[in-house]
Amino acid sequence: LSNRKFHPEPSIVKVGNTEIGPNNLTIMAGPCAIESEEQLMTIARAVKKSGATILRGGAYKPRTSPYSFQGLEEEGLRYMKEASEETGLATICEVISTSSLEAAIKYVDMVQVGARNMQNFQLLREVGRSGHPVLLKRGMAATIDEWLNAAEYIMAEGNPNVVLCERGIRTYETATRNTLDISAVPVIRSKSHLPIIVDPSHATGVRAYVAPLAKCAIAAGADGIMVETHNNPACALSDGPQSLTLPQFDELAKMLDAYAKLE
Ligand code: PEP
Ligand code: MN
Repeated sequence: LSNRKFHPEPSIVKVGNTEIGPNNLTIMAGPCAIESEEQLMTIARAVKKSGATILRGGAYKPRTSPYSFQGLEEEGLRYMKEASEETGLATICEVISTSSLEAAIKYVDMVQVGARNMQNFQLLREVGRSGHPVLLKRGMAATIDEWLNAAEYIMAEGNPNVVLCERGIRTYETATRNTLDISAVPVIRSKSHLPIIVDPSHATGVRAYVAPLAKCAIAAGADGIMVETHNNPACALSDGPQSLTLPQFDELAKMLDAYAKLE
């Protein structure tokens, strides 16, 4: 179902009031974790002004340590809905279980299956049955074939609204959190009709490397990017070191807009 051989035209996935696909650069931005109503609203207003089209924010955080902040859960989802109503931004939130999926589809326009759950086949099937637009991140040690098979699990349940996200893979390199596999963009393009975006934040783990790799993603032909952005990264409850400040995001969004116009 995801194979380009049987569907030569690139797919367009509708998310709220926007579309992910060719001729429309998608910029998803927002905090790693939703921390408070004020934090989310501040970030939402700023990224909207800068040109983002989709607001990201985690309400259910799959943290490496069980002692780290795990997210505001349904309270966070309510803030996402409020931010969407005020700014007009479409919204995306990660789901990690059946119950978080059931809650998320009531409040946000797109759900995200994260790297850690890319091969949670039961969750993939449930996301498939929900019919909700879904962003499927690449597992941190997944091959492109395994990733496309994960997309098949969703699509086989009758949900064609799948967007792929390259977010870096585990390699021997330790200078960055993961290694961005930029070749995944043209490889996916040749194998699949599904839209693909790039997340340079989780790929690098380092704020200073986010903008160069975001530009690289667009140059490679990605349909968009997802960038962690925070009003006060030094105090962020999750992924502060890789989060752009609001002025840094503004600069990046303007640059990408200029890039997109060049094409
Ligand atoms: C995230 O987007 O917040 C996240 C946890 O990403 P990943 O699944 O790529 O690690
Ligand atoms: Mn994060």
